[in-house]
Amino acid sequence: METDQATTAHVGIIGGGFCGLAAAYELGRRGIRATVLEQDAELGGLAGSFVVGGERLERFYHHWFTNDRHVMDLIDDLGAADQVLLRPTRTGMYYANRFHKLSTPLDLLRFSALPFPDRIRLGLLALRARRVRDWQTLEQRTAADWLLELGGERVYRVVWEPLLRGKFGAVAAEVSAVWIWNKLKLRGGSRGKGGAEQLAYFRGGFAALAERLAAAIAAQGGRVHTSAAVRGIEVADGRVTALDTAVGRIAVDAVIATPALPIVAELLAPHVPPDYLARLGRIRYLANLCVVLELDRSLSATYWLNVNDPGFPFVGVIEHTNFEPVDSYGGRHIVYLSKYLPEDDPLYRMDDAAVVDFTLGHLARMFPDLRPDWVRAAHVWRARFSQPIVERGYAGLIPPRNTPITGLKLATMAQIYPEDRGTNYAVREGRAAAAALAAELGAEPAAGAQRPASMA
Ligand SMILES: Cc1cc2nc3c(=O)[nH]c(=O)nc-3n(C[C@H](O)[C@H](O)[C@H](O)COP(=O)(O)OP(=O)(O)OC[C@H]3O[C@@H](n4cnc5c(N)ncnc54)[C@H](O)[C@@H]3O)c2cc1C
Repeated sequence: METDQATTAHVGIIGGGFCGLAAAYELGRRGIRATVLEQDAELGGLAGSFVVGGERLERFYHHWFTNDRHVMDLIDDLGAADQVLLRPTRTGMYYANRFHKLSTPLDLLRFSALPFPDRIRLGLLALRARRVRDWQTLEQRTAADWLLELGGERVYRVVWEPLLRGKFGAVAAEVSAVWIWNKLKLRGGSRGKGGAEQLAYFRGGFAALAERLAAAIAAQGGRVHTSAAVRGIEVADGRVTALDTAVGRIAVDAVIATPALPIVAELLAPHVPPDYLARLGRIRYLANLCVVLELDRSLSATYWLNVNDPGFPFVGVIEHTNFEPVDSYGGRHIVYLSKYLPEDDPLYRMDDAAVVDFTLGHLARMFPDLRPDWVRAAHVWRARFSQPIVERGYAGLIPPRNTPITGLKLATMAQIYPEDRGTNYAVREGRAAAAALAAELGAEPAAGAQRPASMA
């Protein structure tokens, strides 16, 4: 249609995580100018970074599965496919004071934490789970109930219950079967020859990809502002008209809001009815606390260690430098310890030094040789809205992309479903919201835009 209108439209994007950046890039491809407003000093959101040994490292551990096609498509579009690093990784489990290797189907057969018939049950459970095509049949079931049915009591107590508790704590019993079904389906799809898991990373870390995206947005005529919190929105005749930001008032024709729903609710509160605000507030989130240790030596050969020991407070010990080489970080060995928890949990509120002491005390039980002088530095990162609680009937809780405010669309982590949140889906959601908005603004479809359109 009216090319003038299409090329002069200006969209404000709240949030410079992967969803916001992907949305801005997609708008640019369609001839629409986008301005990204990120409150932090760095781009990347939950996949944001800090510097270790001269290289950027994610504050919270990050990798992709080889079947994360939306992010891989975006990387292709940016001409950066040669920057994707694919590597086999070693997975394990710590249970009853023992380490178990769990990378391949053969490891599963040797998994001595379970009697042999239960190892077979566990293997069959994964196969049966992956055969479920219609996730809606699982919408009203809890993960606990479904996993007990598929694998039996012992498999549940040893493998699944600790995993669900580690990830969702006190609300573990409420988690939907759809959540675990999706995890089982995805992990099975990210394997190389011999059944070993392969994972992907970006040269220079996720920060390097965020920078490539920001550069592409600028080349399209868009803008990316950091340290630019959005403090309010202006609405006239039911339509969004401007954003009040830390870098000034910005007139817009439309907005895509990507922060967690409680943050969006605060921004929208003066302009929408209470029942809509209540809907945004209905989805609950867990916070995450991640301790990152820089060690002078390796802890083990495992990249991803699930901790299925109820006495250990972290759900996983992730030795990042068993994935990305230690030379990338000036010879420092990087270990993450992650815990999902409610924001009022005492651990979340402890000061950083106390968190590190607490962590090292527990880690030394698992690795008795560990000495405090191995630790060259320790960092504590917190994210208030890190994981929506995917409860039964979650599909019905998700607010639609369109809001009561004309021109303002939601594209947030809580809307990713039936998949669990992740940068791959943040990219899908951002591009899909941008494609839908562009159509409303009357933009021409982008050349080769079949992908986002099919995602919408
Ligand atoms: C511990 C942990 C491990 C993870 N591991 C992986 C992994 O291995 N692989 C993977 O793909 N994904 C992983 N994820 C998930 C992934 O990080 C997220 O799904 C993804 O980054 C979400 O992107 P987003 O843009 O939707 O949201 P966010 O990253 O939350 O971005 C929203 C942005 O909005 C900004 N913002 C908020 N309020 C305002 C405001 N008022 N004004 C301006 N800006 C504002 C925030 O600062 C933030 O940058 C992990 C997450 C966690 C917590």
